[in-house]
Amino acid sequence: MEGIIAAISTAWGESGIAIVRLSGDGCRDLVNGIFRGRTDLSSTPPRFMRQGYIVDEKGMELDEVLAVWFKGPFSYTGEEAAEIQCHGGTVAARKCLDLCLSLGARMACPGEFTQRAFLNGRLDLIQAESVLGIIRSRSDRSLQAAAKCLRGSLSTKVAEIHEEMLELSAFGEASLDHPDEDIPPLDPRSMGERLSGISEMIRLLLSSARSGRFLREGIKVALSGKPNVGKSSLMNAFLQESRSIVTSMPGTTRDVIEEVISHKGVPLRLVDTAGLRAPRDEAEEEGVKRALDAIRESDIRVWVIDGSLPLSEEDREIAKTLMDPCCVVAINKSDLPLVVSERSVEDILPGTPVRVISAFCGQGIEELKDQIVLAVAGRTSLDEDLNTTERQVEELGKAMDLTISAMDALSSGTGLDAVLEVIREARECISRILGISTDESLMESVFSNFCIGK
Ligand code: GDP
Repeated sequence: MEGIIAAISTAWGESGIAIVRLSGDGCRDLVNGIFRGRTDLSSTPPRFMRQGYIVDEKGMELDEVLAVWFKGPFSYTGEEAAEIQCHGGTVAARKCLDLCLSLGARMACPGEFTQRAFLNGRLDLIQAESVLGIIRSRSDRSLQAAAKCLRGSLSTKVAEIHEEMLELSAFGEASLDHPDEDIPPLDPRSMGERLSGISEMIRLLLSSARSGRFLREGIKVALSGKPNVGKSSLMNAFLQESRSIVTSMPGTTRDVIEEVISHKGVPLRLVDTAGLRAPRDEAEEEGVKRALDAIRESDIRVWVIDGSLPLSEEDREIAKTLMDPCCVVAINKSDLPLVVSERSVEDILPGTPVRVISAFCGQGIEELKDQIVLAVAGRTSLDEDLNTTERQVEELGKAMDLTISAMDALSSGTGLDAVLEVIREARECISRILGISTDESLMESVFSNFCIGK
């Protein structure tokens, strides 16, 4: 690994402490150069904290700190590393980092500490990505899932698929290359069975991955419907606090407001969209545009209806735009006499679940949240233990398609070499998940998502 890298690893701003982290051969002596304590870091055993001062070029004490160093490979990065715990706030840590940089360290790129851990074999690529999952967790469950992946549970499953593919390829290649030797001829039926076993393993992973994504990123829920039906009130009922403006003037919510709540451990990303109606001015036009974008990007739409008023043509028009991929209907204002029945809504959106609620009294709100999770994930609670990234899901999807193509090719009597080529391509997708085939652009795309200092 090239040189010593350094960064402030704690969040920017005022805080109790801030940590400057360094990694690379010689970083202990570099830190020692600006550290004044009763004992030198150079004569301190690894992992042993020393109290002292950071001093500048003129020997002036800048901050009282704790310093520690780690001997490679027993550090996060797998190489010599050091940490300086300064007081929080922006100046002390910044000054300390500047001193490290002036002594020859270079500023770390985003994710470079974790990238070094990967390149030094401390973590595989899946584990490295799960570090990001831990940092970005929004609920207890997603934290647990990411931590489990860091311990290697996803890596084991992906490695099993890789192993199975490798064995199948090796077997096939051997029977192609050495037909005269003692290798038993490849029976297309057993090859088909093994391929189908592989596709089943990938399918299971993909279905867990979906739950994992919901746990990590949350289910995107767009609250939609005509103005004044109670979308903002429903948002407030979900949040149990006042966040978006509720008035009796139609068309008040002109922007898209997003809040995250945790429902039985599953994060719900609620988006309160502007009332969908023909815009009356420019601001409202922008609001409707953003609402439509939010609706398009959502995992599920909650179509909110004012149950105290008859359904209008406008309601029916809106309903048509909400059906795909997934929708739940909330007949609101059940504290008033209702004129909209569940039946009449089912006639408009057949098969769509309907809940009667009152955003005012809180009636039906918990059931509505259950219904949202159920409609998206097929269950009311997610207890999946896998935390996958979009990149991993994409590669799994490609591997799945290729495995199915290999099965099709095999059953249509295509030559063995062509089938093996497709299996090889599928295996490459799996290799990329594990980081076995590491090209520059793959590294760049994975680690650029990290923050500096991680
Ligand atoms: P939005 O335009 O769809 O966001 O609707 P709002 O949340 O701003 O609500 C519009 C009006 O309906 C306000 O006067 C609310 O007080 C009222 N409202 C919302 N939910 C309920 C409810 O459950 N019951 C009753 N009676 N009124 C409600």
